[in-house]
Amino acid sequence: MSNAAVSRRQFLISSGVAVAATCLVPPRLFSQEGLVPVALKESATAKITVQALRRNISVLLGPGGNIAVLTGRDGKLLVDSEVVTARGNVEKALLSINSDPIKHLINTHWHFDHTGGNEWLHQAGAGIVAHENTRKRLSMDTRVEGWGYTFPAVPAAALPTTLVKDQHTLHANGTTLALKYYGPAHTDSDISVYFTEADVLHTGDTFWNRSYPFIDYSTGGSIDGQIRAAEVNLAKVSAKTIVVPGHGPVTGKADLTLFRDVLVEARDKVAKLKKQGRTLEEVVAAKPMARYDAEWGQSFQTPQSFLRWVYQGV
Ligand SMILES: [Zn+2]
Ligand SMILES: [Zn+2]
Repeated sequence: MSNAAVSRRQFLISSGVAVAATCLVPPRLFSQEGLVPVALKESATAKITVQALRRNISVLLGPGGNIAVLTGRDGKLLVDSEVVTARGNVEKALLSINSDPIKHLINTHWHFDHTGGNEWLHQAGAGIVAHENTRKRLSMDTRVEGWGYTFPAVPAAALPTTLVKDQHTLHANGTTLALKYYGPAHTDSDISVYFTEADVLHTGDTFWNRSYPFIDYSTGGSIDGQIRAAEVNLAKVSAKTIVVPGHGPVTGKADLTLFRDVLVEARDKVAKLKKQGRTLEEVVAAKPMARYDAEWGQSFQTPQSFLRWVYQGV
């Protein structure tokens, strides 16, 4: 999350005036349909910050998915590759950690804000590991109805070549990386990456910290799948685990628990309203998640768009 997003949110909270949102929230929040072109444009200049986590692991917090970076003698290993247009700032951020060459890339799932840098990172020297459905989705033109956008097939250099079915273990830089498929969750291509010795878990977009998630029904995601994945994440972590979400600040078990609880509450409330015959518009107007909307609906998804993803799946 950008500093701008944080200060915008703080302003909203401190002002307590909903109308302020109209001049502070980026236009993309008002139109999911325009999200991809706007994200491509904004990511070219968006700031990326580097945060050291534990041992030889850092994270790059930028406009797209959070990138975990493991450094050492085997070269840099990255988890996710940002939006393609963020390349310049990703390169600068990686160099600011150290000059280790880039050797490995893992994609948590196929979305453009996690795989956009695949081609240039591969050309820089990285082998790419991902779930087999990530390769499948990237290999062909793929429509995401929720974003009103069709992604063209990527060039061959951007495709993962080491494919995960259920689980996969990698060793690099004195670290054991355990990769595990979630099953259909946020998409049908989501894997977790666990840095065993450091006890750091990258969840990809099965976890959005203090933000409503996007759920991609076009490629196998659903609210129930997203909740199942949240339960899987909770079962994996202890109070000491550092958790890197797909989006939002790095955190731990408490926020993971809150995320699961918010999703379950949204599903139960929206399912009840839908059963009563309410239309999506009526559910949105009823504001069933009102107490979270000011914080959770400001960064990536509006309350309306999140309710739409929940409504679709109940
Ligand atoms: Zn994402
Ligand atoms: Zn995603």
